[in-house]
Amino acid sequence: MRALIAGNWKMNGLRESLAEVAAVAAAAPGIAADLLLCLPATLLPLAPRELPLGAQDCHANASGAHTGDLSAEMLADAGASHIIVGHSERRCDHHETDAAVRAKAAAAHRAALTAIICVGETLAQRDANETLAVVTSQLAGSVPDGATPANTAIAYEPVWAIGTGRTPTPDQVAQVHAAIHDALQTRFGATFRILYGGSVKPDNAATLLALPHVHGALVGGASLKAADFLAIARAAPQS
Ligand code: PEP
Repeated sequence: MRALIAGNWKMNGLRESLAEVAAVAAAAPGIAADLLLCLPATLLPLAPRELPLGAQDCHANASGAHTGDLSAEMLADAGASHIIVGHSERRCDHHETDAAVRAKAAAAHRAALTAIICVGETLAQRDANETLAVVTSQLAGSVPDGATPANTAIAYEPVWAIGTGRTPTPDQVAQVHAAIHDALQTRFGATFRILYGGSVKPDNAATLLALPHVHGALVGGASLKAADFLAIARAAPQS
């Protein structure tokens, strides 16, 4: 399966940052992985069209009285082809439940967008040996019945690895990815793309991307600079 290297800019980036997007877009044709940058919604209509773009959240409804929210349809209209849903920062900061994440993923599908559904354990849950139970429960609750490999990717992001410079061992990553793969095979009879996220950097990308059932990466901090993001993308194995 061809790797997907997705950047998550979070709440970073002004118009001047579009030079980084342009640099990624210019290099993308020479890279043997699919590239995607999930930008702040303010930048989506301004970014180069040559590169697939994503949003970072959406409201579950298509329109209505929801001040400050953006629907999946609006984000598609602004240029997004993907939407990250259920990122741990939204689960934590905005108290998003699995049911809310599932509704957002279904909204992405309604708007013909690909949902990148995030799951992952906290450090306390890992220390309590609850990782597989937590992740498979989040998966069961957050992935809507209409999910297919074409409209959905999963991102395994251990909360304690995001923005910390810490990553799980290769064995730990492989174990969780295998569990996610198995759970989705059992439920949907299909193989979904499973991305790893959490402190992916140019110097650890090759190791992480070579693991079984790792089909790409969701990259936060290192996606803000085109050179780092492209170095990670170039580390993806040839499919
Ligand atoms: C993320 O927020 O999705 C992420 C993986 O961040 P970082 O790469 O900075 O750990």
